[in-house]
Amino acid sequence: MRLESYQHAQNHGICAGKNIAGVKTEYTSIPWMWSDQFNLNLQLTGICDEYDEIIERGNDINNGVIYFFLKNNKIRGACGVGVIGKVGRDIRITSKLSEKNTIVDKQILSDQNLKLNKLMQK
Ligand SMILES: Cc1cc2nc3c(=O)[nH]c(=O)nc-3n(C[C@H](O)[C@H](O)[C@H](O)COP(=O)(O)OP(=O)(O)OC[C@H]3O[C@@H](n4cnc5c(N)ncnc54)[C@H](O)[C@@H]3O)c2cc1C
Repeated sequence: MRLESYQHAQNHGICAGKNIAGVKTEYTSIPWMWSDQFNLNLQLTGICDEYDEIIERGNDINNGVIYFFLKNNKIRGACGVGVIGKVGRDIRITSKLSEKNTIVDKQILSDQNLKLNKLMQK
């Protein structure tokens, strides 16, 4: 897989370096990237090409909009866009949910009034 992002370039390099130095290390980082485009911040996590359901969170770019890509009720990936500062926290939590293979409550994912970290406590 080819991933063109700073985070991947950094962590993949660290992992390769460790293995070259004899420290056996598996590369397990959940892909993540962000980009600022004018006043908007775009963030992606995970892999968004293998899913059986898409859940939308929010519908106003001023408050941030995130699309979650689910397979078997687990988050495979997500992408979000919003005014700077509006999607970063939720995308960070999403990465952790994806890493832990958490089965998610879609009601919480889709309702911007419900905090995503409620899913972490389950
Ligand atoms: C326009 C643009 C926008 C981007 N925006 C984003 C973004 O918003 N978010 C994000 O996460 N990623 C973004 N990326 C992707 C990100 O920049 C790259 O994935 C990342 O920099 C790759 O890091 P790297 O260390 O593998 O390679 P590079 O950063 O390309 O580093 C390779 C280095 O090797 C040097 N080099 C090449 N050949 C030789 C040689 N023969 N001898 C010595 N030195 C050599 C080069 O000069 C360079 O300094 C963007 C890329 C581009 C082009």
